[in-house]
Amino acid sequence: METESIPEIYGSLVFSDKVMKERLPKDIYKAVIKTSRNGTHLELDVANVVAAAMKEWAIEHGATHFTHWFQPLTGLTAEKHDSFISPTADGGAIMEFSGKELVKGEPDASSFPSGGLRATFEARGYTAWDPSSPAFIKDRSLYIPTAFCSYGGEALDKKTPLLRSMEALSTEAVKVLHLLGKKEVTHVDTTIGSEQEYFLIDKDMYLKRKDLLMCGRTLIGAPAPKGQEMEDHYFGVLKPKVAEYMHDLDEELWKLGVPAKTKHNEVAPSQHELAPVFETANKAVDHNQLTMEMMKKVADKRGYACLLHEKPFEGINGSGKHNNWSLVTDQGENLLDPGKTHEENFQFMVFLMAVISAVDDYQDVLRASVATAGNDHRLGANEAPPAVISIFVGDELAGFLKGLEEGHLPDKAVKTKMGMGATVLPHITKDTTDRNRTSPFAFTGNKFEFRMPGSSLSVADPNIVLNTAVAEALSQIYDALKDVPEDKFEEETMKYLKELLAKHKRILFNGNGYSDEWIAEAEKRGLCNLKSLPEAMPSLIAPKNVKVFEKHKVFTEQELKSRYDIFLENYSKTIHIESLTMQEMVRKDFTEGLVTYLKAVTDETAKKKALIPDLKCEYEEHTIRVLDESESKIGEWLTKLSADTKKAEQMTDNLETAKYYHEVILEDMESLRSYVDEAEAYIPEDYLPYPTYGELLFSLR
Ligand code: ADP
Ligand code: MG
Repeated sequence: METESIPEIYGSLVFSDKVMKERLPKDIYKAVIKTSRNGTHLELDVANVVAAAMKEWAIEHGATHFTHWFQPLTGLTAEKHDSFISPTADGGAIMEFSGKELVKGEPDASSFPSGGLRATFEARGYTAWDPSSPAFIKDRSLYIPTAFCSYGGEALDKKTPLLRSMEALSTEAVKVLHLLGKKEVTHVDTTIGSEQEYFLIDKDMYLKRKDLLMCGRTLIGAPAPKGQEMEDHYFGVLKPKVAEYMHDLDEELWKLGVPAKTKHNEVAPSQHELAPVFETANKAVDHNQLTMEMMKKVADKRGYACLLHEKPFEGINGSGKHNNWSLVTDQGENLLDPGKTHEENFQFMVFLMAVISAVDDYQDVLRASVATAGNDHRLGANEAPPAVISIFVGDELAGFLKGLEEGHLPDKAVKTKMGMGATVLPHITKDTTDRNRTSPFAFTGNKFEFRMPGSSLSVADPNIVLNTAVAEALSQIYDALKDVPEDKFEEETMKYLKELLAKHKRILFNGNGYSDEWIAEAEKRGLCNLKSLPEAMPSLIAPKNVKVFEKHKVFTEQELKSRYDIFLENYSKTIHIESLTMQEMVRKDFTEGLVTYLKAVTDETAKKKALIPDLKCEYEEHTIRVLDESESKIGEWLTKLSADTKKAEQMTDNLETAKYYHEVILEDMESLRSYVDEAEAYIPEDYLPYPTYGELLFSLR
């Protein structure tokens, strides 16, 4: 593709604002925009006009079908396609699409997890158009982003609570801004830029490994002689074929209006990253789902497999998804951007302290929001953030917070501590000197970056929690300050912020988050260290958290309980599949390699000895002994894993089952793996029916 045509293809498959403006009558366009901004109801006659325009546009772009596209609790996206075709009496057909079909769908979606929210007799779920995320065309279908809920209106998806949380945050932020004198602001949006990490490996090799096929991660495999220790892959030169892949991917994403921006090699061999330009949370979540889908699709087309698992390979870095998060007003002001003037910085301090309080108060449920079986392998593994949440603010902000803490009112603090003008707060510059990569929650100049989410997670999950927690912190700030007289406002506010800081400073940490000292220190400070999903999940239904989700109308208690059950079940199911896959792969594929090779060495050694009886054959005998020893250990652990897995299958309590998978099954798998890997290191590649780590990680052209 020529560079000149990029603006032309960008968003060419999107029923965008621009397209709507061109194709809809002015009053209809205005009604849609109002609905998408304020979430108001759209009249059916308006919907009919929009549907007609959408259909026409879609057909012009080659679409024959439409689908309500939604995000059930599997964490993936779901779609069911209907054609526009409607047969006529004379044996012909016309293309039809009504406002009703646009606004509401009734997929027979009874097989999606509902955590008991739907009794089977009313199993039907409903999809409802979300006009705040644009429709688009993919594979000749018109995709309409929708929310998915039950007959009773309970959320069965990730979009509904995300939209609710954005609304809650907007409401509370606007109240606080009005207190601060920004009366013109009527709406505040959450903005998100999610950096996506992934691995690319050869497709033929991928197809030869049952573990990658079934589980997305390797369950056995001796380390390659080379790993990532040379640090030669990070930001390294792109291999030509990989560069082509990335280019293809960008192009597909641009057509769909996904603002893919940055691409580079990551730390681990064969690992890469793509970062988009940030967008409103709702769109960013939809676009991240599309990004993950396209990564896989384009990989398949180009002879690769794209791995989005959090830890596909033992011993080298896993993949995450950094969630860059900020707040922007309808006037275009970024509320986490420290300004130049006194007023701007005063306002910045209020929002900064809101985030700090929120993350401290709701660290447990924030941690739970990123818990998955895959991400458990990554967090706390010396390459990703620890499982303890702390906030990094950088030296400059830390110095300033210290001034606040020591009780200097802002102007004095400025004068004595920062040596700047007497009447203004310091111009807090972007702290680019130290970006502390080890921090799970870092201030990066004009936004926060939450680094705990795993690569395959829907970014909706952490943002629902973050938005709700910050909404609550802002609501408390509002309550504390709403009755303060104007002449005392600034003084009282600073006093209140100081109190907040005293209460929440335990969450601030600027040092090395990977160190053991920090984990010990965090424990002293009373911070949570929830190491695994079964440990983290109960916080989802802890009374204090239920209360805040209910208060801000993000989740009902029932919705939280259903999610709690689904996430626990999902965790157990994932490890169950891993256990079965591992057993099969070891019994069949690995054993085939082991037995054939053992026989070959034994035969060869016997032959040699027959020829020359006093030959020592020390190395051969050593190998035979090692393999023989491993064989019996592997047999023992296979039997144990199999028996323990059968026990797990009989368990009924979701939390107990998940704990058992964590404590027993994963431990069994680890022990089994250690013997398999030890033996595998002795077996030449030719004998193994699956590719080794060395081949998987270093053979990509
Ligand atoms: P790094 O790799 O150093 O973290 P990048 O520039 O690769 O930085 O990624 C930063 C991400 O943050 C991008 O996706 C960018 O669009 C996003 N971002 C920038 N400003 C904001 C903001 N105000 N709100 C949300 N995300 C933002
Ligand atoms: Mg980053």
